[in-house]
Amino acid sequence: MGADTTTTASNVLVLLGPPGAGKGTQARLLEEQLGLVQLSTGDLLRAAVRDGTAAGLAADKVMKAGDLVSDAIVMEILEERLEQSDVARGVILDGFPRTSAQAEALDALLARHGMSVGAAVALTVDDNAMVERVSGRATCAICGEGYHDQFKPPAKPDTCDVCDGGPLTRRADDNAQTVIARLQAYHAQTAPLIDHFENRGVLRRVDAMGPIPEIAGSLGNVVKALNS
Ligand code: AMP
Repeated sequence: MGADTTTTASNVLVLLGPPGAGKGTQARLLEEQLGLVQLSTGDLLRAAVRDGTAAGLAADKVMKAGDLVSDAIVMEILEERLEQSDVARGVILDGFPRTSAQAEALDALLARHGMSVGAAVALTVDDNAMVERVSGRATCAICGEGYHDQFKPPAKPDTCDVCDGGPLTRRADDNAQTVIARLQAYHAQTAPLIDHFENRGVLRRVDAMGPIPEIAGSLGNVVKALNS
């Protein structure tokens, strides 16, 4: 992405947006197109919870309440992930940064790994639609394909179409009550970061209320234009 500096490459795309905006879905679609690796702090935290690590034990209750996990824990798991070799070609940050402290720490963290932010895209959505979008979500436990009760139901109930038979799972925090807390956390702590990236001249906005392929097309065009 963009021109290299002497020590870092602008090979990081930040996706901003409230829960349900489609950051994860769009990040997965963009991975191949841009040759970058999706890196979701939510996924990393859920893995830590499943594995019962110290970070996972501390994060579990906070995530179930829809609040933000401490910056220290998030920075630690992200740093660990960036040490793995597959991310060297660049990453799509999905769900990070979420606080101004994380945004401040991001540049130094990336510089240590020879990376820098080339673009930040804010997915703009209508809050009222987010509760419905998030409450109906399900994911294949085997291949990670995403589904939605209303917008993208599987052919057979609770069964993945893509990997033919994988069971679908639902996140503990994808319920109406927790989504409202997550939306509040987004507006209080994360939405101000839109200005942070705008001030740095790397922000673009994409309307994320339409069908998934249409949003993917707009997002692809925006990223291409930023790189040219
Ligand atoms: P997500 O999968 O991005 O929707 O994140 C699920 C939950 O993980 C959030 O509601 C937070 O509790 C936690 N989380 C994920 N990323 C972060 C982050 N960057 N900072 C703080 N908490 C996070």
